[in-house]
This record gives sequence, C-alpha cells and structure tokens, in this order.
Amino acid sequence: MSTTGQIIRCKAAVAWEAGKPLVMEEVEVAPPQKHEVRIKILFTSLCHTDVYFWEAKGQTPLFPRIFGHEAGGIVESVGEGVTDLHPGDHVLPIFTGECGDCPHCHSEESNMCDLLRINTERGGMIHDGESRFSINGKPIHHFLGTSTFSEYTVVHSGQVAKINPDAPLDKVCIVSCGLSTGLGATLNVAKPKKGQSVAIFGLGAVGLAAAEGARIAGASRIIGVDLNSQRFDQAKEFGVTEFVNPRDHDKPVQQVIAEMTNGGVDRSVECTGSVQAMIQAFECVHDGWGVAVLVGVPSKDDAFKTHPMNFLNERTLKGTFFGNYKPKTDIPGVVEKYMNKELELEKFITHTVPFSEINKGFDYMLKGESIRCIITMGA
Ligand code: NAD
Ligand code: ZN
Repeated sequence: MSTTGQIIRCKAAVAWEAGKPLVMEEVEVAPPQKHEVRIKILFTSLCHTDVYFWEAKGQTPLFPRIFGHEAGGIVESVGEGVTDLHPGDHVLPIFTGECGDCPHCHSEESNMCDLLRINTERGGMIHDGESRFSINGKPIHHFLGTSTFSEYTVVHSGQVAKINPDAPLDKVCIVSCGLSTGLGATLNVAKPKKGQSVAIFGLGAVGLAAAEGARIAGASRIIGVDLNSQRFDQAKEFGVTEFVNPRDHDKPVQQVIAEMTNGGVDRSVECTGSVQAMIQAFECVHDGWGVAVLVGVPSKDDAFKTHPMNFLNERTLKGTFFGNYKPKTDIPGVVEKYMNKELELEKFITHTVPFSEINKGFDYMLKGESIRCIITMGA
C-alpha cells in the first residue's frame, strides 16, 4: 500500500481530561514497529471499561489518551517480524494478547499470557514504551494496546485476531470484548449440559452474553438475577426465562433460588462485580455437582466469605478472564459461531452513531440505555 512505512494523518477522538467530552483531532499515526500491525478501524463499539478509565475514578489518570478496545478493521501494514498477518486481513484488535511462547500460551488451560495480558497502566507500545500517536509532535497515550477510537491504530500482532473476511465488521466488532467474556464464561467455564438450569447474576452486556451462552448450550431454565428490574424486559429477548430481584424478597436470594429449583441451580455465572452477588452465586448452586463462575471485577478491599462446608458438599467455584478465550486462537471461532447462525449478535446492538458523534455513545452508556453502541468510523 502507498501508506506503508509512512506516517498516516487521520481523525481520532482524543480524551484530553478525565470525564470531559472526547475531542476530534487530526493525529499522526507512526508506522508499525517490530511485531506490530497498523489497522484501519472501520467500526468500534463502546464498553464500560472505556468509560471507567475515561472517568478515571480510582485509577491512575493517564491523559491525553485515545480510548477504545472493541473494534473491527483491516490491516494496512505490518512491522518487522510479523508473519501471520498481512495487509488486507480482516481483524479484531483485542485488549489482551497471546504471545504464543510463554507458559500460559503453551497451556491449554490458560489465556493469561505473560507478555500481553491486559495492562491498563501502559500508555505506550511494549516494543519501545513509546506512543505511535502524536499531535504536532506531542505524544498521545495508548489504551489497552488497542486505542480504537482512531481511524488508524497500531497494535501488537499478538493482540490481533484474524477473522473470516466475509464476517460483517459492524456486527462482529462486539466479539472483541464484553460479548466473548460472558459467552466464554458460560460455554468454556460453567459448561452447562443440555437441559440444565443456569442462574445469571447481573444482566448488563456481560451477563446477557452469559445468558446467550446458556441458550446456545441448551439450558432448560435461565434465571436472571438483578437489583434493577428494568433489566428484565430486555433480558427476555436473550432467553432469560425467570427473574429474581433480591430486593423483592425478605430471605436470602440463595434460598429463593434453592426453592425455585429443588435445591439449587446446576450452574451460575456472576457478572455484577458485587462481592455479595459473588457469594450468592456460589451458594445458590446445587450440592453434588453445581458450578459457579465469577466474572465481575470486585472492589479493591473485598473479601469472599463462605462456609467451607459449601465446598465439601461438592460445589465448585471458578473465575475467568475474557471467558477463557485465547484471543488469536479462539476468537476467530466465535466469529464463525455468528456466521453459522449459532450465536446472535444483532440483539446486543441497541445504538449506532457516526464517529463524529462518539460522545453520544458515552451518554447512552452512562444513562444505562445501551447494551452496545456501534461507532461507524467513516461517518
Ligand atoms: P453492567 O454495569 O452493565 O451490569 C451489571 C449489572 O449487575 C447491573 O444490571 C446491576 O444492576 C447488576 N447488579 C449489581 N449488583 C448486583 C447485585 N448485588 N445483585 C444482582 N445484580 C447486581 O456491567 P457489565 O458491563 O455487564 O460488566 C459486568 C461485570 O463484568 C463488571 O464487574 C465488569 O467489570 C466485569 N468484566 C469482567 C471481565 C473479565 O474478564 N472477568 C471482562 C469484562 C467485564
Ligand atoms: Zn504468552
């Protein structure tokens, strides 16, 4: 391509300050260095993690920064040593990576790569610590190694999943993060058998994706638990069959669920981030075989407390990061599930905005109106 090896000037939505609207700027994007690829982003979507770090409450603020980590695009050029990706490949950049060479990448059981595991504090590229983005020579920080709120971005090749070029990028871009987290928590970790019951705690995007996993696995009952009853109507479209709002009951939700299910659910998936919900999700599974999976990110000082007898009675507690998917190896397969109509993505996409109106996407998320808002880069 004519741009190979050149600086590309393009539009990016830059966060100059915590909590302040993003500003459309012309940025310079340097060519990819060793083990990096430069990607033309076509669609990106907005996830809570972008909003948390943009608000920068409780995190080390790092500004100016280009956020964004759920996206789909096309490889424009590749840096030295990149052999598995080529210009023109359709790809999803992923916030966590797979170097292919560490004990985690060699293990079938782990996706927590030593080199490319999520790092929210890093503002530059691993290769040299520098940023590939600048405005008039002033560097702009990266976010999660992806920074997809830019028409072009540079990403480590270990964080790039090459997907079926026939897959519509305006839909499959959401597979990059929240969707795979919830889906994988159910399909890869909770692993319900056909006909089993599954409780999902928290019916946000991640919980709804976990419910989608339960639907795909053929669960007979999917019990949604949320403190916000407004989530229930929407969740019906995701195959959730029954609802429990802990606030409607004066007994513990574990007991409510045990009574509904003749002793407990077969599987539960916690997608709230509340430690109370984590304990409830564990204690509501059936003894003898029940498995609970934690997905939500707890607060710093939280502690999980339960009686050890709950384990002796043969309940299992697990946790998962990114649904146990290895980004490069497994994510193309999730896209295939959509292509062969096993996985439904359309119902997650509630809003679409042109790139110039990206701040509207933040408003929808802050008001809790959207599950996923797709941002169209060319528009
Ligand atoms: P969200 O805020 O959209 O949804 C969370 C839902 O949980 C809300 O509807 C809320 O009402 C409900 N809730 C909160 N406390 C509850 C309680 N005690 N009992 C029942 N319901 C309760 O969030 P999301 O984007 O769907 O993300 C869910 C969680 O997953 C977050 O903690 C997020 O940080 C985490 N997450 C984890 C991973 C991972 O790899 N483990 C990846 C992405 C997100
Ligand atoms: Zn690795």
